[in-house]
Amino acid sequence: MGKIKIKIDYSKCITPENCRICINICQPVALTLTFTDKDYHDPKDWKIVPIFPSLCINCGLCSDQCPEKAISVFLE
Ligand code: SF4
Ligand code: SF4
Repeated sequence: MGKIKIKIDYSKCITPENCRICINICQPVALTLTFTDKDYHDPKDWKIVPIFPSLCINCGLCSDQCPEKAISVFLE
């Protein structure tokens, strides 16, 4: 079995702070929301990061529910 990879297309996930669907739906808490070192008041400076990809169970809920089709999970 391959390794699970979680990929986020940041050109599609533009304001994650206002969305948060994927982090709210991910039961194993493989994803988190963090900010870049710019301005944390600016929603564009926040990013979804697969902080614990090894916890991902490849349930597919995040990619199914993402309104921007910005997140994909696959086996490498
Ligand atoms: S596929 Fe499931 S477990 Fe993996 S990151 Fe998405 S919601 Fe979380
Ligand atoms: S569900 Fe999609 S658009 Fe919303 S925060 Fe997650 S990756 Fe970004």
